[in-house]
Amino acid sequence: MPRTIVIGGGISGVACAAALNDRGHSVTLLDKGRVLGGRMASRRIRDSGTPSDGHVVDIGASYFTAQHERFRLLIERLVGLGVVRAWTDTFHVASSEGILGVKTGPMRYTANSGLRSIVEHLASELRDTAVMSARDSGPISVEESALTVNGEGVNAVAVCMPSPQARQLLNSTSPALAAALDATHEVAWEPVIAVTAVFDEATWCEFDGIFVNDDPVITWIANDGSRRGNGAPVLVAHVQPVLAARHLTEPSQVLPAALGAVKRVLGISEHPSWADAKRWTYAKPLTASPQPFFLDPGINLGLAGDAWSDGPRVETAWLSGHLLGEALADRLETGATR
Ligand SMILES: Cc1cc2nc3c(=O)[nH]c(=O)nc-3n(C[C@H](O)[C@H](O)[C@H](O)COP(=O)(O)OP(=O)(O)OC[C@H]3O[C@@H](n4cnc5c(N)ncnc54)[C@H](O)[C@@H]3O)c2cc1C
Repeated sequence: MPRTIVIGGGISGVACAAALNDRGHSVTLLDKGRVLGGRMASRRIRDSGTPSDGHVVDIGASYFTAQHERFRLLIERLVGLGVVRAWTDTFHVASSEGILGVKTGPMRYTANSGLRSIVEHLASELRDTAVMSARDSGPISVEESALTVNGEGVNAVAVCMPSPQARQLLNSTSPALAAALDATHEVAWEPVIAVTAVFDEATWCEFDGIFVNDDPVITWIANDGSRRGNGAPVLVAHVQPVLAARHLTEPSQVLPAALGAVKRVLGISEHPSWADAKRWTYAKPLTASPQPFFLDPGINLGLAGDAWSDGPRVETAWLSGHLLGEALADRLETGATR
């Protein structure tokens, strides 16, 4: 029997698979990464030569909000299960020279085991889904009479990832899909390099996160020890996009400038014992489509993710995937198209 395939195991893909499952549709969920999570990425520190070995650090999204009603209900449930934790509503604000003050906003959430564990947990709750990681989907082909993934016939496909990655998979004769891909392809994607710095001890003032304004090197510093709730002296700084773009081929080259900026902003002289740089070529879309997702009018093929939503955020990516899953379920139930 032809399969329904969700390609992309980030938060939008897992949300899409869950929505299809909830309506009784079995799904195959593919991700090319070794692990699920996409940009909700966490890694375990190893071989740093410090007591922070074993610490799980968030190297993609820093935190998330839960303001949309449906997402809020999910997050309340995950808080109840101990997967998610309310982190803080207050971050510091700094200039290049140092900390200026604090700013309060909506509650930001985190996960005790790292943000990736949320996607993993949601995937573990899928009832009728084969989850396959380290599996590149291969090309999707939409020809006159058939929808195929890697040459195999399928009855529906949801492509849940940044649009430049989606575009690489799609070869289509559908004018609506071509127009949707053209529109999202024109969206510029901002790169980020996330720099993890492990110190011997925390010599900085107490903070959860710092927005660094108008600095030529970094835009943000997260206190990962606060985020994880274990006080580990681990910081994550995000490199300013223009500088990041210049170092995407060799991200570690940005370490001296980034670590210097962290020390300058925090007013500390200690150097980290271990540091690493993670590149995100497609970190955030600079604009997003006003539509929450795309579903081709004539083919059971949809696109979701944070370029199809109200801003590049975890909660909007989740909503995009969730709504696409519901729309695909409607299609499959009415049998409107092949
Ligand atoms: C450095 C950084 C900081 C951020 N900070 C925040 C923040 O503080 N708060 C917030 O709300 N959001 C933040 N975001 C944005 C947030 O992470 C994203 O909006 C959200 O995670 C997007 O989820 P997604 O499922 O749409 O895409 P992704 O998480 O990118 O998932 C796409 C998945 O598709 C897979 N894939 C791609 N190509 C293929 C293929 N050919 N075959 C199979 N699988 C494939 C990828 O491996 C990936 O797992 C940040 C992002 C970054 C990078």
